[in-house]
Amino acid sequence: MPQNTASVIPSRHVASYYAASAHASPEHPALQGATTADVCVVGGGFTGISSALHLAEKGFKVIVLEATRVGFGASGRNGGQIVNSYSRDMDVIEAKYGETSARALGSMAFEGNRIIRERVATYAIDCDLKDGNLFAACTDKQMNGLIEHKALWERYGNRELELLEGDDYRREIGSQRYVGALLDHSGGHLHPLNLVLGEAAAFASLGGVIHEQSPVTGITHGDTVRVSTSRGEVRAKHVIVAGNAYLKGLLPELEGKSMPCGTQVVATAPLDEALARELLPNDRCVEDCNYLLDYYRLSADRRLIYGGGVTYGGRDPASIEAVIRPNLETTFPQLAGVGIDYAWSGNFLLTLNRLPQFGRINHNVFYAQGYSGHGVTCTHLAGRLMAEALSGQFERFDAFAGLPHTAFPGGRLFRVPLTALGAWYYRMRDQLGW
Ligand SMILES: Cc1cc2nc3c(=O)[nH]c(=O)nc-3n(C[C@H](O)[C@H](O)[C@H](O)COP(=O)(O)OP(=O)(O)OC[C@H]3O[C@@H](n4cnc5c(N)ncnc54)[C@H](O)[C@@H]3O)c2cc1C
Repeated sequence: MPQNTASVIPSRHVASYYAASAHASPEHPALQGATTADVCVVGGGFTGISSALHLAEKGFKVIVLEATRVGFGASGRNGGQIVNSYSRDMDVIEAKYGETSARALGSMAFEGNRIIRERVATYAIDCDLKDGNLFAACTDKQMNGLIEHKALWERYGNRELELLEGDDYRREIGSQRYVGALLDHSGGHLHPLNLVLGEAAAFASLGGVIHEQSPVTGITHGDTVRVSTSRGEVRAKHVIVAGNAYLKGLLPELEGKSMPCGTQVVATAPLDEALARELLPNDRCVEDCNYLLDYYRLSADRRLIYGGGVTYGGRDPASIEAVIRPNLETTFPQLAGVGIDYAWSGNFLLTLNRLPQFGRINHNVFYAQGYSGHGVTCTHLAGRLMAEALSGQFERFDAFAGLPHTAFPGGRLFRVPLTALGAWYYRMRDQLGW
């Protein structure tokens, strides 16, 4: 039985703008002793809580075990951008995995965003939800890519897209850095920690049980699965493993097929209203089209939340501000010298084909992970598909589970330097406009 190192697990959310502005939420007691459930969920991020909430709505008895606090991982610290579809575009999915897979994945590509909006409305979750996200092109080549991207997404049913060619993008972004943009009116942005805390509260209101400070140290397979922590055990008919980049080897079957990566974010001091409106006049969020992309938006109290930088293997850089500030000031020279109130990082899980990995070990241990940097919407879809599968409807879950989970070249030792080398090549390509 693989062991996790519980002693090094922190007990609180990382210091971030989100932790500082989170709504009050109850602390859930650690698991003590033995108990039973229909479903035990490992991990209290969007994947775990979304699955738990969908299952509780269907009447399952669900227990969530979270190593730290709900929203401790990427879900409580991300850019908050609601970006539709997957980290791999539909044309690549069509070419690599054929028409049947592409049709199935395409039909679900915009569902996660709708689930989030339903959750927010049904459970009155206060998470600063705003409409519209932009993809900004830094080069003509990237702009041509956005034109193709629009046509492709329209084929799969997203018609809420608007191309902003030439200087038209300036009505949305107060930066000279781009040559155009694509606006997805059905995307948006939100306070991710308040979303996951709100969803956890909704789950608890339906009788769901959460144990925080309860790192799972082992999973013993069988018709009844035993999920162990240092102080207790849950016996369940089904288990959902939702630890993503923070799982650290709990399921050896998943090792080597994905790679944790760090990305860094800063939040400026609050900007005055006129300056905030100059940067993002209609309060959309933006990501650029570079391989190592910058992403930014305004918070409800008018801070610029700006992310970028990737570290392969998930290690933090010595200074997050030193990584992010130069890009922030290139995008918005009007912010030269702006105060940075918060700087933090988090880990996402990269897969080789940039598609999420859904699957089953034996017949009753399910997992979903590896959203490759775009997980806000797909984690919510994952939750619904888990609940469908555990109710006996496997078709949509299996459309993902049937995709290959390819190991990273180089194995555990060399996958980090090899991937960094690949990223360096793509970065050069973006900078030189190849
Ligand atoms: C800085 C950053 C910015 C991002 N920005 C965006 C964005 O703007 N838009 C977007 O779409 N995506 C973004 N992403 C990606 C997105 O946040 C993730 O894909 C998504 O949140 C993954 O959710 P998850 O629930 O699968 O994993 P996580 O949120 O990481 O949750 C996993 C949880 O499992 C727990 N856990 C792990 N092991 C155990 C164990 N043994 N026992 C118990 N619990 C365990 C962890 O403590 C953690 O709380 C970003 C990611 C990062 C890091």
